[in-house]
Amino acid sequence: MTEVCGRYVIVSADEVIENACLVFNERIVRIEKERGIQDNTIVTHGLTSIHTHLGLYPIRTTLTGYMRLDDWVTRYVWRWEKFLRKEPELSYATAVLALSKVVLSGVTAVADMHFNEDKVAEALLKVGIRGDLSVAIMSRGVYDSFEVAMDENVELAKKYGGSSLIKIRLGPTTPRLLSPHEFKEVVDKAKEMGVGIHTHIAEVPEDARFIREAYGMSMKDFIEFVELKTVNTIIAHGVWLDPETELALAHPNITIAHCPTSNTLLRDGVAPIKKYLDKGIRVGLGIDVSLSYSILDEITAATYLHLGRGDLGPREMLYLASVAGYQALGIGKGIIEVGETADIVLWSIDEPAIDPVIGLIASGRVTQAYVGGRKIVEEGYILGVSSEEIGEFEKEVLRYFKKCFTA
Ligand SMILES: [Zn+2]
Repeated sequence: MTEVCGRYVIVSADEVIENACLVFNERIVRIEKERGIQDNTIVTHGLTSIHTHLGLYPIRTTLTGYMRLDDWVTRYVWRWEKFLRKEPELSYATAVLALSKVVLSGVTAVADMHFNEDKVAEALLKVGIRGDLSVAIMSRGVYDSFEVAMDENVELAKKYGGSSLIKIRLGPTTPRLLSPHEFKEVVDKAKEMGVGIHTHIAEVPEDARFIREAYGMSMKDFIEFVELKTVNTIIAHGVWLDPETELALAHPNITIAHCPTSNTLLRDGVAPIKKYLDKGIRVGLGIDVSLSYSILDEITAATYLHLGRGDLGPREMLYLASVAGYQALGIGKGIIEVGETADIVLWSIDEPAIDPVIGLIASGRVTQAYVGGRKIVEEGYILGVSSEEIGEFEKEVLRYFKKCFTA
């Protein structure tokens, strides 16, 4: 049994216990009130990013803020990804580097979509957090063949079928890179295998325009044709949804991954998530590709974007990054409660805070983290990765980055 104590225990975004200790093994066993814990430790449930590309970590600096999505993807993303496809070990190094930032922002579970996902799984297991992984299935772009990508994803699901930390989904990348029939084939396969789907829809207005021009379908027609609601699905972005598509997505199987910094840097627009939540659409938060790979920065960015419009504030964003995210991944309730999985983070804050949620967002530093009761961060350091390894991976990735973009 492990015991951790905090001046504040944030049970969920809107419930805080002052001066309390948690006792846990792989699950939380007891929550006890204590007297006068004087330090500035905050205890929370682990957070989650439900849409991430760990393999794109090195090219985050190409998000200059002056390119739109298609321009960025063809100039930088595909070039790097084609390079990664030939160098699987590079995916391992980049995933470890990305995770060194992700984990120290309080994340204990991440949904990732990319290539060489078996190498990403190795990185996740090294660090010790939960992964929900999918291969970016496409019939043009980085893969030349739909079948090759699909087979790779199916094999991955078979390989990690019994893992407690790694879960696999199938990842039809986006309707612009797959035909409706190919997309439906992936959904049918997911249903047959009992796994979920991870995709990108309506990040930009071009998605709906393309589907209409290429297939004569509305976005709602497309979603209904591929029967997306029949499987547990994460939809990245969903910035540009028309009212009938919104109605079609209000279903317990569907969660939109809101990615505020990526949407801002690529000038995608702002997903109206308050309206979505009011209409019964589930929403979580995703790091996607961002400058910092920090979920805390996504919470801050989302707060600025949405509070500025007079809707959601920091408490709601913390909820999306914990409760909503964990529920989308099907891991648990995402709250501190007896019987819940012991995915627990301890934070130190630099100064006393009247409101611990604001204190956490303003100056929270992860000091300890546990996944299923197993300690993965101690005194602010990830136990599974040494600083020497980080240094070596940084050098290796920099070398490949230069080779990729100067060749
Ligand atoms: Zn993405």
